[in-house]
Amino acid sequence: MIDFEKLKYQESFKDHCGVFGIYAPGEDVAKISYFALHSLQHRGQESAGIAVSDGETMRSIRRLGLVTSVFNEENLQSLKGFVAVGHNRYSTTGGNTINNVQPVIIPGNGQSLAVSHNGNLVNAEKLAENLKDTKRISTSDTEILALTICQDKSNTWGERILSSLSKFQGAYSITACTKEKLYAFRDPWGFRPLIIGKLGKSYVVSSESCSFDTIGADYLRDVDLGEVIEIDDEGIRTVGFIPKKEKKFCLFEYVYLARPDSVLNNRLVHAARQKTGEMLAKEAPVKADLVVAVPDSGTSAALGYSKKSGIPFGEALIKNRYIGRTFISPEQRLREQGVRMKFNPMKRIVYGKRIVIVDDSIVRGTTMKKIVEVLRECGAKEIHLRICSPPIRWPCYFGVDTPDSKQLIGANKTVAQIKKFMQADSLKYLSLESLIKASEQEPDSVCTACFSGKYPMKVNTSFKKNVFEVNC
Ligand code: SF4
Repeated sequence: MIDFEKLKYQESFKDHCGVFGIYAPGEDVAKISYFALHSLQHRGQESAGIAVSDGETMRSIRRLGLVTSVFNEENLQSLKGFVAVGHNRYSTTGGNTINNVQPVIIPGNGQSLAVSHNGNLVNAEKLAENLKDTKRISTSDTEILALTICQDKSNTWGERILSSLSKFQGAYSITACTKEKLYAFRDPWGFRPLIIGKLGKSYVVSSESCSFDTIGADYLRDVDLGEVIEIDDEGIRTVGFIPKKEKKFCLFEYVYLARPDSVLNNRLVHAARQKTGEMLAKEAPVKADLVVAVPDSGTSAALGYSKKSGIPFGEALIKNRYIGRTFISPEQRLREQGVRMKFNPMKRIVYGKRIVIVDDSIVRGTTMKKIVEVLRECGAKEIHLRICSPPIRWPCYFGVDTPDSKQLIGANKTVAQIKKFMQADSLKYLSLESLIKASEQEPDSVCTACFSGKYPMKVNTSFKKNVFEVNC
């Protein structure tokens, strides 16, 4: 049997990283950061870290693993202070080393800077040339970004950050802290989300609003494009802006990356995904008995498809929600058994039926092929695939880990060929126009490059991920 969950994880686009920051004298900032990172776990599952300052000393815990395995009651107790930044990270293959775990901390002469980064600098290699004589411990673009800020000669941290931003090309949504202050800043295209919230009298910054719901914070506003924000005991203020570019928010956040209960640019992600399902039911109707989601990423869209088509929604692939990712490799027989425990197709539901399988996207195509195979084994009469985004044909250079074009099935096969490869009875993708409409964003304000090939800036396509990771 097939480990769908692992396959899906391996072949999905991975954003990823979740960032968080808090300035809250009198509060347990480490514990609040822990709960925020826990709710941002979907944005990165390879490592987690929190850096906390009490004004004199900056302490951190940064390790490989899930948030729940990195932190515990005891080690969180050691992180005392009033300002903190946290990070969940997904790394590319080969880059998942302890040195690359974030927040990146640059120790200084009585000064330290901790940086949590979601995004990717497309000019990291060029920036690194200016750091030839500087000791580096990681291979990440985040360290390059942090060192560039630290080497700026401006008087204050706020000015150093602002003056450095014009040197950075690409995607960055960042929370950073010094020993005394919290900073949040975002690239002038606004690729990745970054929002500010209020927690009592204190301020928090996060990748997604689902983390605010968890910790009881209220959403205030988004960090604006090219804006540098400083938070300290005098409150919150904008240090300044670098010139805004045309907004290019990542459309894929609505498709897969963000949690469905998050609100991005005033649009609930679940509602956007449900709408994609409704639109696809209109664009690509089919006669069938049951609409089935690939859990959990396809669930919102499958509900929409079912609602619009009138075909009942049903669960056919059951995921055991109490089994997390395991880093222990079981021997083959147990692994086969374990898959059934994780993600089990229900033969009695599927047998003899015409099934519509709805998913958010297809990257390499291996997971969907296996799903079709297993449902056929369970006796499904017809299998119709409905994908709630257009074919992915180009890699991302803005903070989402994607395979190169050779491995993207949408880049190498026509829709008819993909259908044949999947051995499905039919396959339809949502149009880009409908996807943008479902997101309720202005067409020119979103990045669509992985679908359209229209990159918002010049990218180095020979960019080597294993040298400067597509980072987080
Ligand atoms: S190419 Fe653009 S739309 Fe696609 S994942 Fe990257 S930022 Fe998002």
